[in-house]
This record gives sequence, C-alpha cells and structure tokens, in this order.
Amino acid sequence: MDRRLSKRETMNDQPRIGIVGGGAAGFFGAIACAEANPRAQVTLFEAAREPLGKVRVSGGGRCNVTHHCFDPAQLVGYYPRGGKALRGALTRFQPRDTVKWFEDRGVALKVEADGRMFPTTDDSETIVACLMRSAKQAGVTVRSHTPVREIHRNTATVQAEPFEIVTRDDRLSVDRLLLATGSSRKGYLWAQKLGQTIIDPVPSLFTFQINDRALHALAGISVPEAIVRIPGTKPNQNLSQTGPLLIAHWGLSGPAVLKTSAWGARYLHDRGYRTPIRVNWLPNSTDDDLRSHLQHLRQDSARKAIASFSPFGFSRRLWGYLLDRADLDPQLQWAQLPKPKVNRLVELLTQCDFEVTGKGQFKDEFVTCGGVRLKDVNFTTMESRVCPGLFLAGEILDVDGVTGGFNFQNAWTTGAIAGQAMANLLAL
Ligand SMILES: Cc1cc2nc3c(=O)[nH]c(=O)nc-3n(C[C@H](O)[C@H](O)[C@H](O)COP(=O)(O)OP(=O)(O)OC[C@H]3O[C@@H](n4cnc5c(N)ncnc54)[C@H](O)[C@@H]3O)c2cc1C
Repeated sequence: MDRRLSKRETMNDQPRIGIVGGGAAGFFGAIACAEANPRAQVTLFEAAREPLGKVRVSGGGRCNVTHHCFDPAQLVGYYPRGGKALRGALTRFQPRDTVKWFEDRGVALKVEADGRMFPTTDDSETIVACLMRSAKQAGVTVRSHTPVREIHRNTATVQAEPFEIVTRDDRLSVDRLLLATGSSRKGYLWAQKLGQTIIDPVPSLFTFQINDRALHALAGISVPEAIVRIPGTKPNQNLSQTGPLLIAHWGLSGPAVLKTSAWGARYLHDRGYRTPIRVNWLPNSTDDDLRSHLQHLRQDSARKAIASFSPFGFSRRLWGYLLDRADLDPQLQWAQLPKPKVNRLVELLTQCDFEVTGKGQFKDEFVTCGGVRLKDVNFTTMESRVCPGLFLAGEILDVDGVTGGFNFQNAWTTGAIAGQAMANLLAL
C-alpha cells in the first residue's frame, strides 16, 4: 500500500475523513476515528432522515447487540461467509470489547439463555441514543438526510484529499473514505468503481415456504430442538442445522431453518428457493428408541386411541398431523396399530420430508450474503488492498452471520478497526 503522506498530512493540517452510511458500522468507524485522532474532521453521511434505522428495528425492537461468545476461534463458526477473514479482526475487537464499549458509555448489556445479548432496557433506542451521543461527544459531524450521489477518486499518487463525496447540495474532499453502506446497491457500485470485486449479493436468513395446508393449520407450534437438513448435500456445506423449529402459517421458521437458510443462502438461491428438506423432530432419540417406545404403547395403552395423547412430549396437534401423514385413523386403538405403520411413524418422526417452494417472510432479521470480496481488503486495518485510502466495514463486505447478534458484531468489529486505522494513518 502507498503510505506516502498527503500534502495535508505533512502540513499537520486537520485531516478529513468521510464516512458514507450511518448504520452500526459507519457510526462505530466514525466514533473510533474521531476519538483516536481529535485532529481529524470526521463527517458521516446518512441518506435517511434518521440514522441507525436497522439498529432501531433490530431484534424485534430490542437490538440483539452481540453474542456471549468471547473466543474468536469459536465465534467465527457462526459466520457462513467471512469467518476466516474475521478471525484476526476479532482478536482486536470482539464481543467482550463490544460489551465494554457500551458499558463505558453507560449502557449495560445482559445475556439471555441462548447467548444473545441485549441492552438491559430491552429497547434498541438505548443503543441508538448511545451511538448518537458518542458521535456528538467525539466531534463527528453527522449529516442525516443527505444521500451521497457520487464518489470520485483522484488517481494521482501523492495527493491530498484523493476522494470527493458528492451530495445534492455540495461536495467534500476527504483524505480517507469509509464505505459503510450496508447492502445498498450504490455502495457496491462505488466499491466496484474503486477497484473492488463484488461477490453477487443474495439474501440470507429467511424462512421456508412450504405448500402444505395441514402444516399451516399448526402455525404457532414449536419444538425446542429439531434438525433441518437438505438431503444430498455434503457435511462441509453445513446444510444440516439443529435448533428450535417453529411452524408458521406459510411453512417453517425458527433458528434451525434460519441457520439452514444462512449456510445455504447461495445454494438455495441457485435453485430458485426450491428444495426438499428433511426434519428430525426428535434428534435426541434413536430410531430404535422410538420404535420400542411405540411398541410399548401398543401394550401399555392398548385400548386408547392413538390420537388421544401425544407420546413424545410435543403438541397433540402436531402428533395428529404426523398420524394423518401416516394415513392412520386417529380413532384407531394402540393395540391395532400395524407393525409397518410403527416403522412409518418412526420415519416421520426422524425423517419427515417437505418440499420448500420459496423464500418465506421473516421480519426480525435479514442480511445479505455477498458483497466486497474479502481478499481485496486488509483485515488488520479494513483498508482496501486495491484502492489505498478506501476503507470498508459492515455488511458491504462479503461477511454474514447466523442470527444471534453476529451481524452487528461484524459491523462493530470492522467499523472499530477501520476507524482506528484511519486515525492512525493520519497521525503518522
Ligand atoms: C429487521 C432487521 C433486524 C435485524 N436484527 C439484528 C439483530 O438483532 N442483531 C444482529 O446482529 N443483526 C441484526 N440485523 C442485521 C444488522 O442489522 C445488519 O447486519 C447491520 O445493520 C449492518 O450494519 P451496516 O452499518 O453495515 O449497514 P446498515 O445498517 O444497513 O447501514 C447502512 C447505512 O448506509 C446508508 N446508506 C446507503 N446508501 C447511502 C448513500 N448513498 N448515502 C448515504 N447513506 C447511505 C443506509 O441508509 C444505512 O443507514 C437485522 C437486520 C434487519 C433487516
């Protein structure tokens, strides 16, 4: 990378930093830079009237800030894309640093049983207010409702302010530019114009649409642990995911499905979101356990109707659905259950097949798989390897995590590193 100082820098003038995108990554970058180098004039441009829109709506309005996992080696396992590149970055700024960052600014986080961390207020406004306050205190100029229209680069090598940011009303030349535009198409186009390769963006974290009216009628029923698997895929594709499973009025949802959609984002996109899936409703029991349990019921509950209770702890309605799929009369007595049907029930309990016919709706979280190719970025600074002076952070990168606070952690980590690196370079 060309580290020759610009005229402005050698003159010890006030260096100018431009940040495009007022989301989690842009704010973290801006605050880190302004705090590390008080001489820097940091200007953040945000298209929307109110910055931090996604933070506000995140986590169902509670903002799942990060995940209670403080081991970078383990943490990277939650990122279907970008985990390897993030490994080093997470040793510099990881969830423990996120917790401390907010704590130092008066915001306490709490951890829930599944590891997700939220503000103790359970209100995303607490996070928004903290970021806005911190930016103000650090001297960041936040220009909301100011969409950036164009970005130009002056390609001369020794040049003060090599980037020009153009808005509707004015232009600002800057020494360093941070692109933190999330999944905005314009952001990808600028990154590309400045020399980055863009990996085709496709959705991640979605539910599965399944055309099965009888299943839809069970909407709201969940099982605490199930395995969702895409048959015929290899173990290293990670298309077999365990977790809570929720039946929705359009198909299947819940963490097991969302994780499968994240690991399979590109696989599913390439197949038009049509695929068979196989559900194991009882992953902690073997087929033999289940078979023997059903055999016992034939004797112990001989005179009872097979639909009169659910023998496996889940909802009776779900049990009724499985009986229906096995073509069994719900009034049949346990003693009359034919042996082949016992095998069929075991199969439905552990290998229940569905056809996914599309991407379902999911309003709680949604991210983009794809973006700026990671080998074009130096993850110790988040500076582009192909365009010196350009930094990238957050969702614009080809990094995405499963649900649980990992996507914000990517934004905090890469934003903080970019901000500090921009400040350090300018302080040389
Ligand atoms: C509904 C929802 C809930 C979520 N909940 C969670 C959660 O609880 N936990 C979690 O970890 N992740 C969650 N996510 C994912 C998380 O929100 C994103 O990963 C994260 O916001 C990415 O941050 P970012 O700063 O990179 O991008 P963004 O937050 O998308 O910010 C980019 C900003 O750039 C601005 N911008 C774009 N173009 C321009 C332009 N031309 N000029 C100026 N500004 C521009 C946009 O307006 C936007 O404000 C959720 C996502 C959604 C959609």
